[in-house]
Amino acid sequence: MQATRFHFAHALTPEGWSTGVTVECDSHGIITRVAIGSGAGAERLSGIAVPAMPNVHSHAHQRLMVGLAERAGPGSDSFWTWRETMYGFALRLSPEDLEAVAAQLYVEMLKAGFSAVGEFQYLHHQPDGAPYADPAEMSLRCLAAADRAGIGVTMLPTLYAHGGFGGQSPVPAQRRFINGVERFLKIVERLTGEAGQNALRRTGISPHSLRAVTPELLREVIAALPLEAPIHIHVAEQVREVEDCLASCGRRPVEMLISELDLSDRWTTIHATHMTAAETRALAGSGAIAGLCPTTEANLGDGIFPAVGYMAADGAIAIGSDSHISVSPAEDLRSLEYSQRLRDRSRNALAGGAGHSTGRTLYEAALRGGARSLRQPMGAIAPGYRCDVVMLDADHPLLAGRSGDAALDTWIFSGGNALVKDVLVAGRHIVKDRHHIHEEAVARDYRAAIRRLET
Ligand code: ZN
Repeated sequence: MQATRFHFAHALTPEGWSTGVTVECDSHGIITRVAIGSGAGAERLSGIAVPAMPNVHSHAHQRLMVGLAERAGPGSDSFWTWRETMYGFALRLSPEDLEAVAAQLYVEMLKAGFSAVGEFQYLHHQPDGAPYADPAEMSLRCLAAADRAGIGVTMLPTLYAHGGFGGQSPVPAQRRFINGVERFLKIVERLTGEAGQNALRRTGISPHSLRAVTPELLREVIAALPLEAPIHIHVAEQVREVEDCLASCGRRPVEMLISELDLSDRWTTIHATHMTAAETRALAGSGAIAGLCPTTEANLGDGIFPAVGYMAADGAIAIGSDSHISVSPAEDLRSLEYSQRLRDRSRNALAGGAGHSTGRTLYEAALRGGARSLRQPMGAIAPGYRCDVVMLDADHPLLAGRSGDAALDTWIFSGGNALVKDVLVAGRHIVKDRHHIHEEAVARDYRAAIRRLET
């Protein structure tokens, strides 16, 4: 890749909103220089430039079942009945199917303004539970899909050792997920080798939850990892999970995580929905990032994250699209804010102070937390960061007369994906005028995978 220069009419930089910004990138797509000026000779992009968003929580295969779990069952529907439906899909996917589904999903992410994804990948084995010849087969398919789409990816292979708290045996429907420590570390090693020096790839781990991994086992695995490897874990998503944890261990899940493991900014706690005020303050103070998935949490009826208290205690946040019921940074940030307004009957709950824009506060918090969570060099239009940029369509009627924070708030609270016009990843122009450069071929392969799964 050659060194590249871009000129943005308007851009959000660490110094604030700027007009006439020229950015230079090196051959790896890392920004080397940002200057104000006419940018003679640079590729000119119209619209409003903002850093692209990290998506810290994805289960790519769940994209398949969007819209298929919204019909009422005979009893009362819950996360647990949804999980049965999801397991049904998870048991049928071939490696080729997963690659096709993930590529389609990643194209959609890019078109919405995400430029990197944390793939929390727990389908490891064949449908009957036997390992593939390469134990990392399914994770490698996600890497191939990310390459095809051109998105940054932090692979987080999932450690799933038990079926429930206290080391319970897994149920048959979990047979594709289960690994012992030795085989799991082989997967991590394989993916770390594949990431190599690729500027778009990172590797970490995702212990599934305290249901699936005991603290002792987790400490053993962490001791074998490079110090910088990120760790993502589902925690306290469901009230029943909190009750089961209390019954089994005498402690609540977040309380147990904090007391048993040395949390820091290498950790991302996914959901952390059900916390006491003390847990909320302790998690914020630990340096861990809360990986929030507000549209999925709403879709599954999980509950409401205590974001007002957590952010007031300087807790770090990031967002993820999780089940992909919605793939939109704007919609997830909006849902996060609206959950607090509905609960507290308030407005601008997370703005962080008088005169602050809620959209800007949330967007910048999710950029900072997301980049740290994924260990991806992104989140700012500034030297040393990857040139991952979203161009909002300044010619869209919704943005008439809007600039700066008002434009960002209009994107997040109203326009959503319709306002995303162009996306750069590592200085590569991947979404041009709302069109991903490979979207027809990727969609064709996705439809073929759906046909295979229907037969
Ligand atoms: Zn999840």
